[in-house]
Amino acid sequence: MKYIGAHVSASGGVENAPVNAHQIGAKAFALFTRNQRQWQSAPLTEASISLFKERCHEYGFLPRHILPHDSYLINLGHPEAEALQKSRTAFLDEVKRCEQLGLDRLNFHPGSHLNGMDVDACLDRIAESINRTLEQTAGVCAVIENTAGQGTNLGYTFEQIARIIDKTEDKTRVGVCIDTAHTLASGYEIRSEEGFTETFALFDRTIGFPYLKGMHVNDSKKELSSRVDRHESLGKGVMGTTLFHLLMHDPRFDDIPLILETPNESLWPEEIAYLYSL
Ligand SMILES: [Zn+2]
Ligand SMILES: [Zn+2]
Repeated sequence: MKYIGAHVSASGGVENAPVNAHQIGAKAFALFTRNQRQWQSAPLTEASISLFKERCHEYGFLPRHILPHDSYLINLGHPEAEALQKSRTAFLDEVKRCEQLGLDRLNFHPGSHLNGMDVDACLDRIAESINRTLEQTAGVCAVIENTAGQGTNLGYTFEQIARIIDKTEDKTRVGVCIDTAHTLASGYEIRSEEGFTETFALFDRTIGFPYLKGMHVNDSKKELSSRVDRHESLGKGVMGTTLFHLLMHDPRFDDIPLILETPNESLWPEEIAYLYSL
């Protein structure tokens, strides 16, 4: 069974996210558990936490179908010590928020070398950041998102992600989220049946399907190998429709959150209904 949803607003409190997801016909959702553009956020209140749990229960959202996303400011591979520490502190807070909400996974972008260190050293630093965070927490899986490879962002090849996983000590608490728009932009042709088959066979050999903890289902404004991260509404970009048909019929994508991050929120109910109609 497929669990499709969108990255919904949590404005006014995390407890509003399950309501917003329910209203658009979602069976899964993503959210920010704090303001994603600020370093500091107030702690979650007990009232907010219990309402969030109550509403998830009421609307039938299980933790494994909820994929929180961390702040865009965090860079777990930062080349400078002070900035790295700031990111690690914020990331630890993000994981602790997930623990408080009873959630079992946190989606994040691996990090950027900012031309301050070489690629492998940066990947190892990201793994070290994950290790330190997992040691201080319990029950939450660190879910690495593949990126478009824009600027100095790492995680745009399956090999880079595999290296981070390889250096993570607790393999039971690390996973991957594949973003379809990032996959295309980073150079994997997933729009044809042949390309889809090859790309996911490579994914399975390099990383492995047991690590797949979520997907971001997006169309892309930018072409194959553009290395530019621009999401588009389904059917309005360069993706075509074959990919979405294949995804919906492939049991390897069952029982994980399949999340729309498409730009026009008013289309989410239609986009969710469209995917289920396939
Ligand atoms: Zn993301
Ligand atoms: Zn994404």
